Amino acid sequence: MKLDRALDLMREVPDFPRPGVVFRDLTPVFADPDALRAVVDGLQGGIDPDTQVVAAIESRGFLLGAALGYGWGYGVVPLRKPGKLPAVAHRVSYALEYGEATLELPAEAVLPGQRVVVVDDVLATGGTAAAACELVEAAGGVVTGVSVVLEIPGLGGRERLGGRRVDALLAV
Ligand code: 5GP
Repeated sequence: MKLDRALDLMREVPDFPRPGVVFRDLTPVFADPDALRAVVDGLQGGIDPDTQVVAAIESRGFLLGAALGYGWGYGVVPLRKPGKLPAVAHRVSYALEYGEATLELPAEAVLPGQRVVVVDDVLATGGTAAAACELVEAAGGVVTGVSVVLEIPGLGGRERLGGRRVDALLAV
């Protein structure tokens, strides 16, 4: 399946999770085997070839990260919301539009000098991906890029990531 046809399966949900927000729902893309393959292969095409580890952001990033790791030979490290990991190496809190969120890096998951790509479904304001990069770097890892299926330009995500490489399959 061609990537653009796969991405046609994305659903726009108005007023979720709150009034005025249009949520881009990738569930139908992941649910279709050919679309999932097209998206994972598309992401792989934008990953720096020297990358060793995928840092996958909870929770939709897990789906993509596991597929990339299995298919292309990366280790996979889950970046998790608080209270889920038995052993935490680093924790970063960041501002959301309303309130605050936290991500944690598991202990002994990213080694100093390892080359790590951060993967998620959507890049919006960039706060989540920036926190993920900070976690990897706090462990001594080198961020080779941030790979997402969808970027929502105009929310400043790319800018928030400084000069880091950003690969998005689609921008809407
Ligand atoms: P950011 O931190 O860039 O503002 O938001 C990105 C994070 O929130 C990602 O983990 C992503 O899964 C989630 N997110 C924000 N907006 C959307 C959206 O419209 N669709 C989906 N699927 N996830 C979103």
